[in-house]
Amino acid sequence: MNRQHQHTHRPRIVDVRPYQLLCLVCRLGASSGRRRAAPPIIRLQRLIQENPNRPLRLVCNVDGVYRYQNPGYRLDSAGGALFNEKRDLDILQRMGMSPGDTRPARDLIERMLQSIKTTKNLCGYAGDCAMPTWRGCPQALRGAFERGCSKAFATLIPSRPSREKVTAKKTTAAAMYRVARLHIRPHHLMCMACFYSRQTFAPIAEDNLYEALDIMRKNPVIPVTLVRGCCMICPPCSAYDAATGLCVGGHGMSLRDQKKDLDVLRRLDLNYGNTLPARTLYARLFRRIRSAREICGFQDGIVRGEVWTICDTITKRAYERSRSSGMGIVR
Ligand code: SF4
Ligand code: SF4
Ligand code: SF4
Repeated sequence: MNRQHQHTHRPRIVDVRPYQLLCLVCRLGASSGRRRAAPPIIRLQRLIQENPNRPLRLVCNVDGVYRYQNPGYRLDSAGGALFNEKRDLDILQRMGMSPGDTRPARDLIERMLQSIKTTKNLCGYAGDCAMPTWRGCPQALRGAFERGCSKAFATLIPSRPSREKVTAKKTTAAAMYRVARLHIRPHHLMCMACFYSRQTFAPIAEDNLYEALDIMRKNPVIPVTLVRGCCMICPPCSAYDAATGLCVGGHGMSLRDQKKDLDVLRRLDLNYGNTLPARTLYARLFRRIRSAREICGFQDGIVRGEVWTICDTITKRAYERSRSSGMGIVR
């Protein structure tokens, strides 16, 4: 992905009330006679299924300084005015989010399904509310959301077809052996080192890490160009979106990966587009970056929020073992 594309691709942001995300799930779990939904929910489902990368902005009516994003009451559902106000804030609180937060639909749906397991006490309250303003939604205690949860992600955000991944593996792995130069994103050089320390060093279906290493071990002077975004390692991966060439890994993986790439480039004092022989590149990497924690643990190993999680592999010291061995590329 070039820099121009990165800055000009701005799909329209769609405003969504938090409760509407839950209604999508309820609809999937409702018995067939109750599956009818309000037109905005049907439209939202269509928009997400058409493009799961579409950005959604969570908006709700609040009193305080966050009111700059208040959407008004047009999309309040039945169930009471205060119920509508509280339900949206309850959902945001469960998801650890704020009014106005915008995310790709796939990340929001994933986060909602991980944070919320029932509509009980969110969309309706058993027994103790007589005031009309706390009436709530009649579906809340019927189990529709709970039934819908198991199929919601697959229905709303379909996973990449296995057939497509198998074909990508076959064609792109073979193509790597035919090219005179490899194109690799910077932090994938480190993932290759972690991969090399696995017990079994053999090709896997999910990516082309093995192939890149095998080629470099057989020809340590092969030129390697450092590229922005997805690279030759990615095409068979479940998180690779073939339509856009983007990584759609969960919880904002592309943000973590971009930071890791930039951190590696800075530590190596290199730029995207630079080309070095594999041996020179790895000698520099291993000299300047001594542990995976420095890059993938963001130095201090502290997780600061949903998007900035830390790859488990840093605890296995796999990068460090490959750094010591040289992987048959440096020595
Ligand atoms: S209980 Fe009602 S308001 Fe809540 S998600 Fe289901 S349909 Fe929507
Ligand atoms: S710790 Fe994880 S993300 Fe970091 S280099 Fe190793 S495999 Fe890649
Ligand atoms: S997770 Fe993303 S960056 Fe990593 S191999 Fe898959 S598509 Fe590429």
